[in-house]
Amino acid sequence: MSKQTILVIEDERAIGELLTYNLKKEGFEVQLATDGQDGLRHAQTVLPDLIVLDLMLPVIEGLEVCRQLRAGARTRGIPVLILTARSEEIDEVVGFQMGADDYVTKPFKIKALIQRIKALLRRKTAVDASDEKVESHGIEIDRTQHRVLIDGEEAKLTPTEFRLLWTLLRQPGRAFTRQNLMEAAMGDDAYVLERTVDVHIKSLRQKIARHAVRIETVRGVGYRFYDGPPSDATPAKSDD
Ligand code: CA
Repeated sequence: MSKQTILVIEDERAIGELLTYNLKKEGFEVQLATDGQDGLRHAQTVLPDLIVLDLMLPVIEGLEVCRQLRAGARTRGIPVLILTARSEEIDEVVGFQMGADDYVTKPFKIKALIQRIKALLRRKTAVDASDEKVESHGIEIDRTQHRVLIDGEEAKLTPTEFRLLWTLLRQPGRAFTRQNLMEAAMGDDAYVLERTVDVHIKSLRQKIARHAVRIETVRGVGYRFYDGPPSDATPAKSDD
């Protein structure tokens, strides 16, 4: 399983660093944003597995960040754990208005916070595991039958290509690093060069024919599945 990514949106440097350090130690990938606007931008591009959100933030405050996350089609399913120093806000936050999944009041104990994060992620994983099919723009993947249909015609993918396509399609718009993709498609202990991912992606693009443009190369990062309107799709880079 690839590492889970946690986005921390917190302007207090000491708390941001404390969280980053401890979450990394627990094996998470951590992204840190220090204001609300930057936090939203990160959330929309990284599509993290979970967001730790401080309420008192510069530029866009935490409650508004939470509201926008819940309004976005791609971000609404991401669990949000709120950090707040003001206990009177809790009703508003955890009440369904803002849609936060949990909260922790400051000052907090790091161990307790990590337990809450893990509990939220376990719930999310239980939901994710129930997805056995994904469909987007003429590409259908059925994981139970291990079948891929491209415009209704079955495509013959290798197991690695299958897992790569599944990973990309399940989280459209998320930019995956080659490392993420290797872990998702080949398992934690497979020793492969990053270049190997490029080779699999190239072959996968050929097999999905006219949809190849949807697997975009993200410069300096890796790849993502583009799920916007067809006219906006940029041609896939051939990488060689
Ligand atoms: Ca703050």
